[in-house]
Amino acid sequence: MAVTITANLCPQNHKCPAVLVCPVEALSQEGLLAPEVDADLCTDCGECAKTCPTGALGIEQKL
Ligand code: SF4
Repeated sequence: MAVTITANLCPQNHKCPAVLVCPVEALSQEGLLAPEVDADLCTDCGECAKTCPTGALGIEQKL
């Protein structure tokens, strides 16, 4: 599994709510831009994908 961020689905006009729910602080956001994920910290728990209101954050099966 891996978190995917589809920047063109992110309105990039708000504080990302998913940043606040990540239990390991793997998501960060610069200003109001789309968030970025630190793959070394992320545990693929999926909480961010559940919180994202636009579907810009997703969980994808790793090949
Ligand atoms: S999948 Fe979980 S650990 Fe990874 S960025 Fe999203 S909320 Fe954080």
